Amino acid sequence: MKIFTVGPVEMYDSTLEVRSKQIPYFRTEEFSKIMLNIEKQIKKFLETSESSKLAVITGSGTASMEAVVSNALDENDRALIINGGSFGKRFVQLCEIYNIKHDELKLELQEKLTKEHLENIDGSKYTVMLVNIHETSVGQLYDINILKEFCKKYNIYLIVDAISSFLSDEYKMDEWGIDCTIISSQKALALAPGLSMIAMNKRFYEDKIKNKPAKNLYLNIEEHLKNMERGQTPFTPAVGVVLELQDRLNNIEKIGKENVIKDTKEKAEYFRNEIKKVDGITIPDYNLSNTLTPIIVKGKATKIFNNLKDKYGIIITPNGGDLKEDVLRVGHIGNLNKSDYDELIKRIKEEL
Ligand SMILES: *Cc1c(COP(=O)(O)O)cnc(C)c1O
Repeated sequence: MKIFTVGPVEMYDSTLEVRSKQIPYFRTEEFSKIMLNIEKQIKKFLETSESSKLAVITGSGTASMEAVVSNALDENDRALIINGGSFGKRFVQLCEIYNIKHDELKLELQEKLTKEHLENIDGSKYTVMLVNIHETSVGQLYDINILKEFCKKYNIYLIVDAISSFLSDEYKMDEWGIDCTIISSQKALALAPGLSMIAMNKRFYEDKIKNKPAKNLYLNIEEHLKNMERGQTPFTPAVGVVLELQDRLNNIEKIGKENVIKDTKEKAEYFRNEIKKVDGITIPDYNLSNTLTPIIVKGKATKIFNNLKDKYGIIITPNGGDLKEDVLRVGHIGNLNKSDYDELIKRIKEEL
């Protein structure tokens, strides 16, 4: 089996080896040291200052999205949500559930986010912007400069779900004026699902998290941060995934973050160039993340998906909703190489 999905993805041998071992007890100095080291490395790879804080949450990416909306926002906030697909919609749902006042900048299917969209919005009524920098459901990577400028102009906190962009696209948290970033284990980190993380700068922590009344127990960010000062978590973390994370971060340190991104970019470009030559396939014209390529196969998506899976054990990513029959997504993260794409392209051609 070969998975060209966006999470979980093909894992590296080193991760598989770590996974095969007995899970240790975690209330120990040794484990604390690992956690503190992870905090340092994640901040470095996100390009945020040492004074930023990191909460390590056991739960998939959505748990951290929920932690941020429920802990950082209250009745004094009004959020502007960039809703360009199913992950944008998830922020909308969270704001509804937690009674956070919000408006959506809703993009149509295949619609590109432009400067004009934001120029038509009066930002003075908002306190925060919520955005999935790469809207994974359609593959659009938003232009951070447009968002950054808007938030700066109106002095709005910028909260970014970078779950499907971290380590496959460039990401400069501080330089880009991002106050809070959410990431998760099963995307470009290529680990098992189960761990997500929230990085926040000092001003965000002090203004939006510190000394706020608790809204929940398991997802209480302040408790996580207090524990993290000594390299611990309030509850049992996904210890195995933490160890996978340590191993992977050490490997990325050796390879260089830039090279990890470059490698993904090269795979994405290679696939895009080749697939564009195939009759009957187009790709969208908005800016794409290196993480995945949406391929438009008008009406044939289910058939291609099923045949690749049943005949060759090749799994690509289907879409739900309105895109179900027309669009498939091909991932470029995880342990894949060019020959894997040659095989995939060959099989897609045969199915068309
Ligand atoms: C994968 C992903 C998530 C997290 O989804 P989970 O199923 O909770 O892991 C959140 N946002 C984006 C943009 C994603 O790609």
